[in-house]
Amino acid sequence: MKKFIPVAEPALVGNEKEYVMECMDSTWISSSGKYVDRFEKEFASFCDVGHAVSCCNGTVAIHIALMALGLEPGDEVIVPTLTFTSTANAVAYCGAKPVFVDSEDKTWNMDPGLIEPLVTDKTKGIIVVHLYGHPVNMDPVMEIAKKRGLFVIEDAAEAHGARYKDKVVGSMGEMSTFSFYGNKILTTGEGGMVVTNDEALASKARQLKGQGMDPKRRYWFPVLGYNYRMTNVAAAIGVAQLEKVDWHLERRREVADQYAKRLGDLSGLTLQPQMSWATNVYWMNSVLLDERLVEHKDAIRKKLADDGIETRPFFHPLHTLPMYSEANRGLEFPVAEKIATAGFSIPSSATLSAEDVSSVCDKVEEAIGVFGK
Ligand SMILES: *Cc1c(COP(=O)(O)O)cnc(C)c1O
Repeated sequence: MKKFIPVAEPALVGNEKEYVMECMDSTWISSSGKYVDRFEKEFASFCDVGHAVSCCNGTVAIHIALMALGLEPGDEVIVPTLTFTSTANAVAYCGAKPVFVDSEDKTWNMDPGLIEPLVTDKTKGIIVVHLYGHPVNMDPVMEIAKKRGLFVIEDAAEAHGARYKDKVVGSMGEMSTFSFYGNKILTTGEGGMVVTNDEALASKARQLKGQGMDPKRRYWFPVLGYNYRMTNVAAAIGVAQLEKVDWHLERRREVADQYAKRLGDLSGLTLQPQMSWATNVYWMNSVLLDERLVEHKDAIRKKLADDGIETRPFFHPLHTLPMYSEANRGLEFPVAEKIATAGFSIPSSATLSAEDVSSVCDKVEEAIGVFGK
C-alpha cells in the first residue's frame, strides 16, 4: 500500500505519556496542578519574557491579550489579511474592527510599509502574525507603533522559537500569544499562552481567563471574565514538548533544508523567501506556483493526493470572508490574493524522515512536470 504522508502530525517523542499518566494517577486532571505552573514558568523563560499565562487555545489567547490591553467597542486594530481567521475574530469579539493590511512578496507577512496610512484616531494597536514560522520584519512595525502610541501583539501561533535578529518571537510586543493546537510546532492537543514582560498586564490576563475573579477575594468577580483555562493534562503534554523543543526545531530545520535543496531551484515554483535577519522555524513548508501553473493548482494537489501526499491550501485572505467583506468592499490586497491563489503547503511535520521528504519532492517534481509542459 502507498504510504500516506500528512501535512502535519504531532510529534510525541518525549515524556508526554508519562506526565499525562501522572495526572491520571494523582487525579490532578483539571486546571490547577503542578504542570500548569511549570509549563507557564518554562514557557516564559523559553520566550525570554517575565510572565506567561496559559489558556485553552490560541484564539482566546489573542482575545485575552486584547481585553487586557483595554480594547473597546469601536476601536480599530491593524491585522494582516493573510492569516488564520482567529487573528481578526479576536478583535471582533471585543466589538472592535480589524483593519486589514496587504502582504509583502519578500516574506509573505504583513507589509510594514502599508501600515501607517491605515492609522486613524480609533486605532489602538497592531497584531503581527509570523506566518508559517517566518518572523515579521519587526523594527519598522515597532517604530510606527511607538510613533503613533499603538500597542503591538505578536500572534506567534505558528512560530514558537523563531527569531527576529537576536530576539525570540513573543518577546517584542506588549503581549504575545501562542497556540498549541495539534498541528503547531509544540502542541498540548488544544492550548494557548499569553506572554508579556508587563506584570500588570499578566495579572489582568490571569484574572480574565479565570472568570474575572479577584485574586485576593474568592468568588468576588469585579470584572466580566471568562473560563479560558488550560487543564493540567494539557500542560503536562506541554512540559514534555518543551523539554524536547531543540529536537523539534532541529528536525523542522532539517526538513526545510532538504526541501530547499530539492525544490529551491525547480522551475515552476518558489518556496517562502527567507530573510537574512530571520530564524524561521518552518511551521509549514509551502510552494507558490508560477503564473503559468496556477490554473492547474487543484489538479496538481489532486495528483499529489492520489500519490499519498497531503497538501494544504493557504488561508483565504480575511477581507474576502463573509463577516469582513462588506467593510472591505473596493479595497485591494493584491499581494495577499496572489499568494493565497498560487500557494499550498506540503508535509512539514518534525516526524518526517529523509525518505518521506525525498518522496514528497519526487511527487512534486512529477506533478509539476505533468502540468508544466
Ligand atoms: C492556529 C492559529 C491561531 C489559533 O489557535 P487555536 O489554538 O487553534 O485557537 C491563531 N493565529 C494563527 C496565526 C494560527 O495559525
